[in-house]
Amino acid sequence: MKHSIPTHLLRRVALALTLGTMVTASSAAPMISRLTPPSNPTSAEAVTLARFLPGQRFDLQATVSPDAGASIVGFSFAVDGVRLKPAPNVTSLITSGLNPKLSDGSATPPNTAVVSLRGYSSAVPGVHQLQVTALQSDGQEVTRSGNFEVVGITRGGKVAKNIILLLGDGMGAAHRTAARIMVKGYAQGKAQGRLAMDTFPYTGMVMTASLNSIVTDSAPGMANYVNGNKANNNEEGVFPDDTIDAFDNPRIEYLAEYLHRLKGKTLGIVTSADVFDATPAANAVHTSNRGNGTGIVDQYLDDRQLTGLTVLMGGGRKWFLPNLSDKTSPQAINGSQRRASSDYILPADLVAGWGAAPGAKDPGRDLIADFTAAGYAYVSDKTGMDAAGTPDKLLGLFSYSNMNVAFDKINKRRGMSTVVDDFGFPDQPMLDEMADKALKVLSKNNRNGFYLMIEGASIDKQAHLMDSDRWIEETIEFDRAVKVAQDFAAKHPDTLVIVTADHECAGAAIIGAAAAVMPPSPSAATVATYEAARFPQYSIAADGYPRTTDVPGRMLIGYGANADRYETWLSSDQPTQDSQQPFIASLPLSNHPRTPQLRNAASGYLVTGQVPGTNAVHTATDIPLSAMGRGAALFTGTYDNTDVFFKIGQAVLGGVR
Ligand SMILES: [Zn+2]
Repeated sequence: MKHSIPTHLLRRVALALTLGTMVTASSAAPMISRLTPPSNPTSAEAVTLARFLPGQRFDLQATVSPDAGASIVGFSFAVDGVRLKPAPNVTSLITSGLNPKLSDGSATPPNTAVVSLRGYSSAVPGVHQLQVTALQSDGQEVTRSGNFEVVGITRGGKVAKNIILLLGDGMGAAHRTAARIMVKGYAQGKAQGRLAMDTFPYTGMVMTASLNSIVTDSAPGMANYVNGNKANNNEEGVFPDDTIDAFDNPRIEYLAEYLHRLKGKTLGIVTSADVFDATPAANAVHTSNRGNGTGIVDQYLDDRQLTGLTVLMGGGRKWFLPNLSDKTSPQAINGSQRRASSDYILPADLVAGWGAAPGAKDPGRDLIADFTAAGYAYVSDKTGMDAAGTPDKLLGLFSYSNMNVAFDKINKRRGMSTVVDDFGFPDQPMLDEMADKALKVLSKNNRNGFYLMIEGASIDKQAHLMDSDRWIEETIEFDRAVKVAQDFAAKHPDTLVIVTADHECAGAAIIGAAAAVMPPSPSAATVATYEAARFPQYSIAADGYPRTTDVPGRMLIGYGANADRYETWLSSDQPTQDSQQPFIASLPLSNHPRTPQLRNAASGYLVTGQVPGTNAVHTATDIPLSAMGRGAALFTGTYDNTDVFFKIGQAVLGGVR
């Protein structure tokens, strides 16, 4: 540790002596309340918080509050003592649109400035010292220091060309186990088969905390894997800041952007959720508000030159349809949810620093037409997806919001259910079918390789709703997509396949089985524990899913992170309502139960929970990660979620021997 006095302090002392002034409370130096990237350079643990791959871009930013009556008139950033020469247009000084409170909870003083240097990068591995110096209008200077690390890459191995990351949202160990019990069966203590993800040769455990909580949500939960840094809950691809604008936050370059810029790789995103949802967006979109759907879907298209977006498939058509109605009406006549209030216009310095599209507040935009004009084939159902062949680029939007779940899609295909008709989308593809199509499109012009993220979104959404049968079948569907990726990697050995989750959801636990009578009586006494649980047996149809989940002695699930619910220990014919669905009041699905507290309220028994609200919540429990293919051996052990990014970086840039 060095103890030399910085020259600017010596200057200030000299100035004070010259003028004969004294430093008093009223003339205290301006205060720097935040320096970005976040760091803790005095930490005894010596954990470097912010880490980047060589050349990976990120924004430097500071929040500076001047003395009363003064203002900030200049600033500079320095790395390792060398002042950065800010290129024209990559600095900004924001003095309006600030949050009323600073990060420490105190009121934001007048004239507080947020100063930025956009799109910085360093190619030099190691821990670097970061300094910001701000100059106040009365000549006083203030400096704050932090650090960040550039993680070096070991060269000379065989590199991974393609990366497929399959993310089972909310999928903890219990979700995987339950899917295996249901679809493979156990006898005499042994599983009668393995999930595709069980057969991956390398498995690790991942710590899932976000920047501001031990319990993450899906936005930082995904983003940390693909930019290497912790983010606050609800924020994706950015560090937190002190401005109100949700799209101007300091950016961190995503894996897709980094690999597209340096290696020409393309990006595919496949999800069973609405494509604006946190997990898909946290691969390509930079915002501190995961709920800003209009701007999120616009940025997919407008910044495709940064990400290499080639495939985008899932639900969420409501964000792509032009809002033709009265802009103040709660629901547009065609189902559009586009609003100026969830759209963006980027500040000029961000546009210049990143080469990003400036954006526009355009609720009337026909985004499907704009995708088509940009060369994307557009498909709206499974029949259209199959008929599209292998286009160069593909947009698939199969429902207004989140797609229906496997349980209901499969029962529709079997002629046993009209739930997907109730939602208005009778012909939705399964996740494995979407994955197969995405791999064909991405493989078509694949000189440089691709990064494909495939999300099984409703493992999480149905676990929140404590609809056990639906999330178990959702995990089965997800594993079928894993098999598609596994088969692709078997044919293309320069592919790395990773299967993991962003966090555990609901504290799910397999607590036993129903006593072997049908129907089970809705009470706690129904739960057969230990040896009384035996080995639940399901009959699997040719389509790969159980003929029914309501078998005698069926597996029973408990929740450790639950809200109140009524439990019958049987599957529910109707899914619980999805509040993101437009037209919910007018469709037949308005008959579906609105919450787990209303589902089976007449026939079930009350299971009281520990958390407020109507849904189960995420937990902080570590989650499993399985890997196969080129570089998979890097993924053993117990590690932080941000470590995954650097392991991918090693596999892709340096390779493995
Ligand atoms: Zn969730």
